[in-house]
Amino acid sequence: MGERPRVEVAGVAVSVDHYVGGERISSPTTFEDRSPLDWSTVLANVSAGDAATANAALAAAADAFAGWAALGPSGRAPYLRRLADLVDERVSQIAAVECVDMAMRHESLRNRVIGRGARNFRAYAELAEQHEERTWSSNGTANRVQRLPAGPAVVITPWNAPFMLATWKLAPALAAGNPVVLKPAEWSPLSASLLADLADEADLPPGVFNVVQGIGEEVGPPLTSDPRVRRLSFTGSPETARHIGAAAAANIVPFTAELGGKGALVVFADADLEAAARTAAGQYDDSGQVCLAGTRLLVESTVADEFLTRFHAHVDTQVMGDSHDDATTITPMIHPDHVARVEGFVERALAAGDEVLRGGIRHVPDGWSGRPEDALWLEPTLIAPASNDSEVVQHEVFGPVLTFQSFVDEEEAVALANSTDYGLSATLFTGSADRAERVGGALRAGTTWVNCFLVRDLTAPFGGLGISGLGREGGDHALEFHADLKTLQIRDETTA
Ligand code: NAD
Repeated sequence: MGERPRVEVAGVAVSVDHYVGGERISSPTTFEDRSPLDWSTVLANVSAGDAATANAALAAAADAFAGWAALGPSGRAPYLRRLADLVDERVSQIAAVECVDMAMRHESLRNRVIGRGARNFRAYAELAEQHEERTWSSNGTANRVQRLPAGPAVVITPWNAPFMLATWKLAPALAAGNPVVLKPAEWSPLSASLLADLADEADLPPGVFNVVQGIGEEVGPPLTSDPRVRRLSFTGSPETARHIGAAAAANIVPFTAELGGKGALVVFADADLEAAARTAAGQYDDSGQVCLAGTRLLVESTVADEFLTRFHAHVDTQVMGDSHDDATTITPMIHPDHVARVEGFVERALAAGDEVLRGGIRHVPDGWSGRPEDALWLEPTLIAPASNDSEVVQHEVFGPVLTFQSFVDEEEAVALANSTDYGLSATLFTGSADRAERVGGALRAGTTWVNCFLVRDLTAPFGGLGISGLGREGGDHALEFHADLKTLQIRDETTA
């Protein structure tokens, strides 16, 4: 089918089609994309990919592979830098579309989140160029470890922070020499389409970057089970990761998974309680739809009351509202189905005897003219669980719901913090340098912040322990994932 007309979203003309082999192609069927800010209106009817779309995209990526690989890191770097420049030029357009499509705060999109995309492309252009092959002599041979591009990579992303997360995964794949087929989430598909426009404008060779839109359960399996795919890079939920991991196992394909979190935020009596309480209240930002959020507040019992007083004071200043408004801190959630899922956690917590300390009810903004059920805000919610086994403590909610527990000593703090199956992030507040080392080291998480939160260095390894993930992204780790490492040994006499 030919290209469908572009739709105007937030003043930007957005393609609703796939991007395959440098061309827009459409599917006969579409899916509806709505805005969390105005659920009554359909933003776009987006092409719903199927097995034929997946096949076309993978064929394009496979065709592009040899040429892209042959360019080498320094031949590919200018394309990545052009992409970075284009992201910088278009921040306001991308932020405008993403804000309407996903409802992340416009202020953070325009000032930080979209710009991270440009930094991802620049960082990986440089990291790949700077890489030096390891060489050494042993056993009468010269040894070299080569990083060979692996082949087409399928990249699958979730609905939260979709543009930034797509670039985070796309940049190392492209820098390493692997053409990419990106499958964005169906609840926020539009910024991936803008990324395809930028790739086109940056003159990426056809097939080096492809976007396939569609419903995960429909287009995911043909994309992930195809033997032409040489790398599978996924960010999303553990449930979906199990399906993709099975496809990876069937074809013996390396698979990396950045999954959900249930981070502990641990506060000791010797901490700066004001900073800790402020950070804890900030976990409601973007309605808690952040994988790295510290959603389990664990506070030393001697300061629990004082902490809670300070925490409530901060939460009382939070503003639930439209994501375009700079004063808003708590945005609407992504989808009515997701709101229902989050409400289900609260209902089951109440039924199980947990105590709701605040929130737990829907918020309808003043002057709301739509149906009440279309207002996708839940008041910032704090639950004191009856037991550490409570569902709301042990499972990722991915909404504005935190739990509160106290502990008496370090041993109990660490035991509670490490008591879930997740292990993506942990946050610790303490005034003691010794404790920072001791407890910081004992917290079981891929990233642990001490007296800070969400500080990221793109070169640091990033990923989760337990069901929070498999493999590491960030810096050289992502480049290694996308490479086939080869040891080349040449007997000394050959070169003498
Ligand atoms: P999800 O697992 O439902 O979907 C993620 C992606 O997988 C979507 O593009 C979806 O269409 C696709 N998909 C669904 N079924 C598939 C299948 N059978 N085969 C192939 N693809 C399929 O996750 P979500 O609800 O979009 O995102 C929220 C989750 O992502 C949360 O658990 C959150 O913590 C996690 N997350 C993790 C990180 C991280 O870096 N660790 C970052 C952001 C989000």
